[in-house]
Amino acid sequence: MQMFLDGSGRDSLSGSTLPVYNPATGTVIDTVPAGNADDVAAAVAAAETARTKWAGVSQADKSRILIAAGALIREEANTLATLLTTEQGKPFREAKDEILGTAHIFEYYASMTGSIRGDAAVLPKYGYMNVVRKPLGICGAIVPWNMPAIIFGWKAGAALACGNAVVVKPSETAPLTVLRLAELLTAAGVPGGALNVVTGSGAVAGNAVVRNADIRHVSFTGSVATGRAVSLAAAPTLKKLTLELGGNDAFIVAADADLDAAVAGAVRNRFYNCGQVCTSAKRILVDAGCVDEFVRKAKAAIEKLVVGNGLEKVNMGPLNNPGQRDAVASAVDRIVQEECGRLIFGGKKQEGPGNFYAPTLLSDVSPDAVSEEIFGPVMPVIPFATLDEAVEIANSTPYGLGASIWTKNITTACTAAEQIRSGVVWVNRHLILPPEIPFGGTGNSGYGRENGREFIYEYTEPKSILIGL
Ligand code: NAD
Repeated sequence: MQMFLDGSGRDSLSGSTLPVYNPATGTVIDTVPAGNADDVAAAVAAAETARTKWAGVSQADKSRILIAAGALIREEANTLATLLTTEQGKPFREAKDEILGTAHIFEYYASMTGSIRGDAAVLPKYGYMNVVRKPLGICGAIVPWNMPAIIFGWKAGAALACGNAVVVKPSETAPLTVLRLAELLTAAGVPGGALNVVTGSGAVAGNAVVRNADIRHVSFTGSVATGRAVSLAAAPTLKKLTLELGGNDAFIVAADADLDAAVAGAVRNRFYNCGQVCTSAKRILVDAGCVDEFVRKAKAAIEKLVVGNGLEKVNMGPLNNPGQRDAVASAVDRIVQEECGRLIFGGKKQEGPGNFYAPTLLSDVSPDAVSEEIFGPVMPVIPFATLDEAVEIANSTPYGLGASIWTKNITTACTAAEQIRSGVVWVNRHLILPPEIPFGGTGNSGYGRENGREFIYEYTEPKSILIGL
C-alpha cells in the first residue's frame, strides 16, 4: 500500500514504512509509508496549487462530486467494511454500518454546499453590509483509529464542501480504509491535490501538519493529552483548531425508566466497537431502587455476547491495539484491588493471539474511581439516590462530550438535559449521531463542532464587505 498524495500514490520521501496489524490475530496485514515533514510539505504544495481551483467549482458541481463519492463508497461497502474490520477489529456488521454512514456523510455535505453563505443587512447612513463566508484555504485533518472512516468523512466532507483543500493524517493503526476512501473521492471527481493523505506517526507526520504555517485550520480527534500537545504546537502559526477529545459519558437510569430498554441501551452502547467510542455510555448511573435488578439483567445480556474475530459472527471484536488493552486491564484491576467496585463479570484478557478483553461488568462503583475515561469494554454501574446526585456525579469529571437520561417523566428529562454539562444530551437514546446533529464537547472534551450547520463556522471565515449608499 502506498501513500496517497496528489493522486500519484508515491512513497514517502523517507522511504521507510510502518506496519499495520490485524488486532484479532496480531499479524501484519500491510505497511504504509512513514510520512515525515517533507511529505507533509509536498502535500501542502499540492493542496496550494489545487485550492483555488476547487474553491472555484460551483456549488452544484461540488455537490455532484460528493454525491458520486457517496455512491462509490456504497458500491464498495462490503470490501471497505472487510478492510476496516481487518485493521480496526470491529465486527463486520458495525464496520459496514460505519462505511454506509460515511457514504451518508458525503451525501449530507453534498446537500449543504448551497447553505454555505453569510449574512446581509442595510445599514442606514452607511450602506449595504454583506458578510460572505470564505474558505480557509488548506485544512488539516487528524483522524484516530476508533472510527476512522466516519471521522475522516466528517472532516474531509466539511472541508471540501466549504471549498478548502485538505491534508489528512490517519491513525498509524488504522490508515488503510482512509486511504481507499480518499482514492474513491478522487475517482468521484475531487481534483488532484484538493485531497491528500499523509500516513505516518503522530509525533512526526501529525506534528508536521499541526506546525505547517500554510495549513490554516486543523481538526483533531483523539485523546486529551494529544489535544493539549496539538494546541501548543499550533500556537506559533495562529491557526484555527477544532478539538474533538475524549468523553466520559454518564448514562442515567431514573427509577421510572423502562428498565429493559435501559439495560439493552446500556449494553449496546457500552460494548459497541469494543467500548472504544468517544461517546460510549462510559458511566452507568442507576437509581438505587432498581440498581440490583439492572445489574442482574445487564449480566444476563453481557454473558450472551460472543467475542471473537470481527470477520466471524460475533457481537464484539478485540481492542484495536495491545497498549489499549493494557490500559483497560490496569484500570479494571485497580478498581477491584482498591475495592472501589465489585467485579460481576469478565475482568480478564483472553489468552492467545489478538487484543481480546472480556466484556466486563462492575457494580457498586465509586464515582471517583471512574473519573478518567475507560476506553474499552467495561461497564461500571454507579448507584444514586436522587436526580440531583445523579447530575452531580455526571458533572464530576473534567469531560463534557455526551450524556443520556432514561426516564418516562418529561420533567426529569428536561431537568437532566438542562443541568448536565456536555455537548449533547440524549433522552431514552445514546450515541445517536446523524450528521444533522452538531457534535463536539465542552471542558476537556475540546471545542468547536463537526456536522450540523455549525461546520460552516469551523471551515470558513467571514469577510465583511460594505457597499456605500
Ligand atoms: P491519539 O490522540 O493517540 O491519536 C489521534 C491521532 O492523533 C492519530 O492520528 C495520531 O497519530 C495523531 N497524533 C498523535 N500524536 C500527535 C501529535 N503530537 N501531533 C499531531 N498528531 C498526533 O488518540 P487515539 O488513541 O487514536 O484515539 C482515542 C482517543 O480519541 C480517545 O480518548 C477518544 O475518546 C478520543 N476520541 C474523541 C472523539 C470525539 O469526537 N470527541 C472521537 C473519537 C475518539
